[in-house]
Amino acid sequence: MHYSTYFLIITTVFVLLFATSSSSFINSPSVYAKYTLSYNDAQSTNIYINIEFEINEDIQLHLNGTQTFIMPRSVPSGYALEFYDSYVDNLTAKSSVGSLITVKKDSTSGPRWTLECASNETLSTISYSINLTKHEQGILSGYDASKIRQNRYIGILGYSIFGYLEPMDQVENLPLILIVQSLPEWSIHLTLPPTTNRIPGQQTYGTVSGIAKNYYHLADTQVFMGPSMNVTYIPISYDELYQQKTKSQLSFDQTLIEQNYIQRSLSFYVVVYTEDTDNLDVDMATNLSVQAMKNLLLYYNNVPFPLYTVAMEMTKPLDDKHSYGISMEHLNSCTINIEYGSGINKNSTKDQIRIFQYNLAHHIQHAWLPKRLFSKFYYPFIFELTPVIDTIWFNEGFGQYIAMDAMARALPLNESYEYRQYFIKNRFEYKVNLAPLFIKQMPLPYLSMIASSLFSIDVRTTINLNSRGALMAKDMDELIQLKTQKQKSLRDGIIYMLNWSESNSYIIPFTMEQFPKFFMNATNVDVTPILEKWLQ
Ligand SMILES: [Zn+2]
Repeated sequence: MHYSTYFLIITTVFVLLFATSSSSFINSPSVYAKYTLSYNDAQSTNIYINIEFEINEDIQLHLNGTQTFIMPRSVPSGYALEFYDSYVDNLTAKSSVGSLITVKKDSTSGPRWTLECASNETLSTISYSINLTKHEQGILSGYDASKIRQNRYIGILGYSIFGYLEPMDQVENLPLILIVQSLPEWSIHLTLPPTTNRIPGQQTYGTVSGIAKNYYHLADTQVFMGPSMNVTYIPISYDELYQQKTKSQLSFDQTLIEQNYIQRSLSFYVVVYTEDTDNLDVDMATNLSVQAMKNLLLYYNNVPFPLYTVAMEMTKPLDDKHSYGISMEHLNSCTINIEYGSGINKNSTKDQIRIFQYNLAHHIQHAWLPKRLFSKFYYPFIFELTPVIDTIWFNEGFGQYIAMDAMARALPLNESYEYRQYFIKNRFEYKVNLAPLFIKQMPLPYLSMIASSLFSIDVRTTINLNSRGALMAKDMDELIQLKTQKQKSLRDGIIYMLNWSESNSYIIPFTMEQFPKFFMNATNVDVTPILEKWLQ
């Protein structure tokens, strides 16, 4: 759905919230649970999470009898297991009258706690703490961990600290409030839409709240706070995008967009925390992010989120067991994890800068694909185990090609050709050959299933999968352009698919039977032979 309709839903939630309770939204039947994340002691590395549940007649979730609380071990697009439950301390549960409820950790090694309410008890709150230093030390993939730097910075990945009550993860419309309480002088940035009419871009301190549509949205959010992060707010309007180009410079597609456009804008934020300011020029990184987002807005002609945050983190490695440098996509943000000392500055070469920006574009691109356009088992997501997904070649390979295509389209014709060739040769064609023979011989859906839990652990699977997917996208793009005398391209098929997904509220997976039909409907070109060639 577009920004305007999404905003309408959020506004409707607020109207319901405040119509039913003028003093506090907590009592509103529209909100199923209120999550409070607190960090109140500058001497501590602990954060505290308190979840208050509301009885909701509309949602068939019960708060009596035996309840199960679960922490994620798998995250959307993570394609790996992380034992976030290992860092949950002092978990307690209370009833609506304040009595303690008996809590037991699952004895079969699942990330579950059983809460035994007595016959007259109703579950009201669950509380626990997480020591962020212990958490970061235990999670060896540095990009999967939340972090604390005392007196400076806290960076939180929602799924690494927020658990849920079964079956909250399976309910689509389950509004949740997140309240973040920090030290009074610390600024806070949330990637969720705010619960109040906050002026976009205004710095917020002490306490901030946001609203999530459901548990998936809450888990996929990020929270940043502290005096050492740099937050830049850049509103991007479509008006501004078109002013950059004169009419004669607009492509056929862009002219069509201009004819049909209604005013839309995006609240865009860049949050940077770096422990090496020499090797990460914040202004440069911010400008590259803004340009990447603008190019993608022009590519997709669709703004399915009201706000978006590019978050960059460059921290000193904890030790040589921890790894860094993999970025991660979310619904309204991306986390760009930069290996220490490998950022960009005024001395960087042209290639270093374009590879850095290409990575930004690729991860911003993911907010459309696969976050809002995906195949089986991506959504609803299984948070306890890594789901087996046979279309990562689409999520990642097409996601790589589209990032390249969107960036290239924004360049003058001769530079555009050179940009495309650079990534096709040095990234897709070169990397597809790096894998050993047994990986190259695996059919793409099978390799995808294997990579579903090994993505960052055995990068041979990842690199081959991504490159084969990107080359499939390239073949389809070339075929469509050839058959239509350049009147259509891969982009038309992708936009057709996104419109289909939007009409299904971005929650229905497409099937492989639908895939070539989408392209046929959008371009009148049969891509089946290319699909069959690459999937075998
Ligand atoms: Zn990716």
